[in-house]
Amino acid sequence: MPIPTEPIGSIPRPLRLLDAIERVDGADPSLDPLYEEAVRDTIRRFEATGSPVVTDGEQRKFHNFFTYCVHGMPNMGPEGFRIPFAAGHERRMPRLTAGPFRYARYADRYLEAAQRHASVPVKQAVISPSALSLLYPEQELPGYPREQFIRDLLNEHETEVRRCLEKGAHKVQIDFTEGRLAVKLDPSGRLLQSFVDLNNLALERFSDAERQRIGVHTCPGGDRDSTHSADVDYAELLPSLFEMKATHFYVALCSEADPVRVLKIIRQYRKPGQHVFVGVTSPNDPRIDSAEEVRDRLLQAADYIPVDRLGSTDDCGFAPFCDDRSTTRDTAFAKIRARVEGTALAAQVLGIPA
Ligand SMILES: [Zn+2]
Repeated sequence: MPIPTEPIGSIPRPLRLLDAIERVDGADPSLDPLYEEAVRDTIRRFEATGSPVVTDGEQRKFHNFFTYCVHGMPNMGPEGFRIPFAAGHERRMPRLTAGPFRYARYADRYLEAAQRHASVPVKQAVISPSALSLLYPEQELPGYPREQFIRDLLNEHETEVRRCLEKGAHKVQIDFTEGRLAVKLDPSGRLLQSFVDLNNLALERFSDAERQRIGVHTCPGGDRDSTHSADVDYAELLPSLFEMKATHFYVALCSEADPVRVLKIIRQYRKPGQHVFVGVTSPNDPRIDSAEEVRDRLLQAADYIPVDRLGSTDDCGFAPFCDDRSTTRDTAFAKIRARVEGTALAAQVLGIPA
């Protein structure tokens, strides 16, 4: 088995698509031909990097990785949860205004569209139940108690993951960027624990065999080359992260100030069956990594994670929010190519056949 390497998900949208989205709502049917072209071009360029697993680049996840499933729903109002970024800007999520909570769409539709163009396996990222739990307002909604919302949320999430598994997703990756942010919002750790517990209620609905294809992504956030929780110590997050009943963990690593310290924490808390895909390129850093740099980062990780449980990934998606123009498509694919080539170089050093 070669060392597996997988992307996180998003790729910057083509400028033509972004310009069009500024004029009409992202879900407007007039954009369909532009989305279709964006997905086709993304997969063509993804495969040209040699990446053994691709995504659709989340080209159609309007407007972002977090709210794509509820975008356009009539029971979503403005002024919900805030995500403040270190660069000074913030992203504002919608707020649920009435029950029942339902998805407008499931991510398997993206998977299916991508599979039509792809000749290699496609993975699919979905948003976590814990992130969506932040849509429920602080004040209880009349006639729609929080407990009912959580039941509906878990059902919708389970449906989405099952649909992706049934359609042959290589992996279903649960985006859990709010995990590290939770420690910042509540240093006592209670919010993080509640997130982990909620996500485990969802994960427990899947069999061991199904969970072999389910992973969780953690990162300090990525938007306009900035982060929301890089100042939170991984030591506060990782012990809880590995309590989650998933098999694969996609962990932002190369942008960390002290990756060895993080790797030591991973060594201490990773459970025997858990695979860790370490981030070997940083979407927030415009400099294009060399394959040799990627190789060395992965070899360093191999000192702390058994090689048959180790993989490589990017630290985060390259444009989780659709209007983020900070990274070009050329840069994103050049960094992915470095990840793919560097992973093969590391495998050679470790004596693993490609
Ligand atoms: Zn991320």
